[in-house]
Amino acid sequence: MSLTEDKSNGAPVPSKPRWAIVGGGMLGMTLAHRLAGQGKDVTLIEAGESLGGLASPWSIGGITWDRHHHAILLSDWRLRSILGELGLEKETRWVEARTGLYVKGKLFPISNLVEYMQFPALGIAGQARLAFTILYASKINDWKKLEGIPAEDWLIGLSGRRTFEMFWVPLMKSRLGENYRQASAAFVWSTIQRMYAARRSGLKKEMFGYVEGGYARIIERFEEVLGTNGVRVIKGCRVEAVEPEGGRFVLDQAGGGRLSFDRVVVTTPTHVASHLIRGLKDGERSRLENVRYQDVVCPSLLLSKPLANYYMTNIHDHDAPFSAVIEMSAMVDSRSFEGHALVYLPRYVATDDPFLQKDDGEIEQSFLGALERMYPDFRRGHVVRFQVSRTPLVMAVPTLRYSDHLPPMKTSLPGLYIISSAHIVNGSVSVNEIIQLAERTARAFAEGSGDGLGFLGGRT
Ligand SMILES: Cc1cc2nc3c(=O)[nH]c(=O)nc-3n(C[C@H](O)[C@H](O)[C@H](O)COP(=O)(O)OP(=O)(O)OC[C@H]3O[C@@H](n4cnc5c(N)ncnc54)[C@H](O)[C@@H]3O)c2cc1C
Repeated sequence: MSLTEDKSNGAPVPSKPRWAIVGGGMLGMTLAHRLAGQGKDVTLIEAGESLGGLASPWSIGGITWDRHHHAILLSDWRLRSILGELGLEKETRWVEARTGLYVKGKLFPISNLVEYMQFPALGIAGQARLAFTILYASKINDWKKLEGIPAEDWLIGLSGRRTFEMFWVPLMKSRLGENYRQASAAFVWSTIQRMYAARRSGLKKEMFGYVEGGYARIIERFEEVLGTNGVRVIKGCRVEAVEPEGGRFVLDQAGGGRLSFDRVVVTTPTHVASHLIRGLKDGERSRLENVRYQDVVCPSLLLSKPLANYYMTNIHDHDAPFSAVIEMSAMVDSRSFEGHALVYLPRYVATDDPFLQKDDGEIEQSFLGALERMYPDFRRGHVVRFQVSRTPLVMAVPTLRYSDHLPPMKTSLPGLYIISSAHIVNGSVSVNEIIQLAERTARAFAEGSGDGLGFLGGRT
């Protein structure tokens, strides 16, 4: 705790503890917002020139939109509540966008449960087993047990091999790439729970939403509100080390400069946190570094013509070099893209995948070749801009017995916490879950010094 001078008699009195949050993604921003709401003295420190992290925008062909595709679901209650606080409800648009599955040269609609059940490639027995799997999983409450079962074994047992390969593999690959082979059944369970979230909460159907202007608008408004609530935001400040010193923490900045705080919350991936923080025990460090992450290579394409007007297409065929096709302009009014179509072709890869060595030109050639094979009306001449984003450590892979190996959020250094998307143990990683995690963490801090922090799941 720092000391300030008492205005009345000049004697030093303890001032409010100073909190630093390292990482200005949606997690860091929400935590800063909630802690400031509790009257805490908060500084948010972000390495990038702007806030937002994975949700931040970039510019492609003169159009500013999300660097990584983002959709809001009607059932994303916590995110919607924050949008309400930011005054963005009226700028949010809701759309019944379609989801598809590409199998052997054909695109099938799978936008809702009825369409899943009618998916012809499965046959009647396969359709029935798929329906049974979804219904069965939606009734399970004890997700922990599922963490010990490989997703593949669980799904083949419930749905049969054909339905596993036709339906479940493309769905898992769209979020995990080839890492789906490492996933536990708990990942599938959380995906099904998310599919059912709208119905569980009384909504008739799920819808996709976006804020006009994309996440650029959300982040801009969030930053304004943080400023109004007294959060100090420091951008373009990469923290290189967090060192305990005399009961406080000194943050070394890249390029020189030191900042001192009483409490520090690091919201970066756990591997980054492990490198930053001095004085952790070996056991803590190895738990932080043993979390298995995946990277994403995510080209954005600005096209003069749409592809097929499906928001998301999962892919069964093995020769596609990307994990899914996301046609943002099937959801967002194309006037936001000056009449163009905006498409994302993400490929999720292990952090040591040789694919990461490919240059942008090679990626462009192989990805456009695949689009030509998949969409007969697509021509290379439709491509106005092809721009590749590469981001490491975007998501922890939900491996077997994942939560048993996770490092706790409270470190052995009193006043230092590591809270990251890796701590979402029973939800699929999304902004909604990130906000829930931040809010549950903030509540634990409000109740004391964070002693209650263990492994908080995303779900309330
Ligand atoms: C391709 C893709 C598609 C997605 N689609 C959706 C979707 O449709 N819907 C949805 O809800 N979610 C989606 N997500 C997930 C969502 O974007 C993330 O869950 C969320 O943005 C994570 O926020 P975060 O704050 O935990 O992490 P991050 O956004 O990674 O924030 C961490 C921040 O820490 C900063 N940082 C790192 N090191 C330092 C340092 N040394 N010093 C200071 N700062 C540092 C980084 O610059 C970054 O800003 C998607 C993610 C990806 C990658």
